[in-house]
Amino acid sequence: MTVLVQFAADRDLWSSYEAPLAQALADAGVAARVTPDAVDPATVDYLVTANAAVVDDFRPYTKVKAVLNLWAGVEKLVGNPTLTQPIARMVDPAMTEAMTEYVVAQVMRHHLGLDRHIQNAAGAWRPERGQKLARERDVTILGLGELGQAAAAALGALNFRVTGWSRQPRFLPGALCLAGIDRLDEALSTAEILVILLPLTAQTENLLDAARLARLPRRAVLINAARGPILDDAALIAALDAGDLGHATLDVFRQEPLPADHPFWAHPGVTVTPHIAAETRPGTAARVIAENIRRGEAGEPLLHLVERGRAY
Ligand code: NAP
Repeated sequence: MTVLVQFAADRDLWSSYEAPLAQALADAGVAARVTPDAVDPATVDYLVTANAAVVDDFRPYTKVKAVLNLWAGVEKLVGNPTLTQPIARMVDPAMTEAMTEYVVAQVMRHHLGLDRHIQNAAGAWRPERGQKLARERDVTILGLGELGQAAAAALGALNFRVTGWSRQPRFLPGALCLAGIDRLDEALSTAEILVILLPLTAQTENLLDAARLARLPRRAVLINAARGPILDDAALIAALDAGDLGHATLDVFRQEPLPADHPFWAHPGVTVTPHIAAETRPGTAARVIAENIRRGEAGEPLLHLVERGRAY
């Protein structure tokens, strides 16, 4: 039996996924036809999506066994009331590697105060004494899932004092793990550098508001590589303007692309990166998609299923 897979993602992604998907499905021993074209929805077995609105009414896809997302974040899919089929989010080892690299780079930049030396057009010789070592620096990671755990391990390997925060208790070697909303203030209170790697849900939207930002140590640095709406933009700017917050490196925004007139662009305390922290890589992601289709056809449990009750 040949399964029909509709690649219901942006058309410009198809050219990079067509060959890797064909190869991965063949390697997984799955006979499949993958098409980026609109086909009779009632004939489709699996939908590959990228959170885009290529399909926004899932009701005609009566036969679909699973919706397989190319991105890790699934907030737009879980918010779609017509989508009742199982959803698998993307856990791509290459994306995890990329996020770890981004987080380590940003943490090291602020830990070492590199900006002060890089932005020195006046040529001033100003050595700094008493720089902290990583083992004297507290970093808190909000979210200890695929990405948060990898970042925690890498930062721990560099000797940073890592605190992690999640919904359910987690145990990571060498890190202080806190769980639940009641422990959030504690997790924030030591965060000289705060890394946000949470999914966007009703519980995490605006989680970092003025009151929570005020819990951070003075001149703390914040890195948001998760989703824009987790942060209150106005509260962030107010905290930077007041000198309470030292810097914010933001990869994600409420509106993307970030509008040209958004105050983040010009703010000296904000670094904007254009949602580049961790891209899904077609070569590795295609293998995850193919494995899930193989599992679906073999009646085995799918990988990385979204739990509807918690929305991630
Ligand atoms: P994940 O494996 O699902 O992990 C999510 C983590 O957040 C888990 O530790 C979870 O707690 C925790 N969490 C969720 N809701 C919480 C709450 N209300 N309170 C406390 N902790 C909570 O997700 P992931 O793969 O690490 O990805 C995280 C997010 O990164 C994605 O959802 C996506 O939005 C974003 N992302 C961004 C980029 C980029 O390029 N900027 C790339 C990829 C992903 P439990 O451990 O208790 O479940």
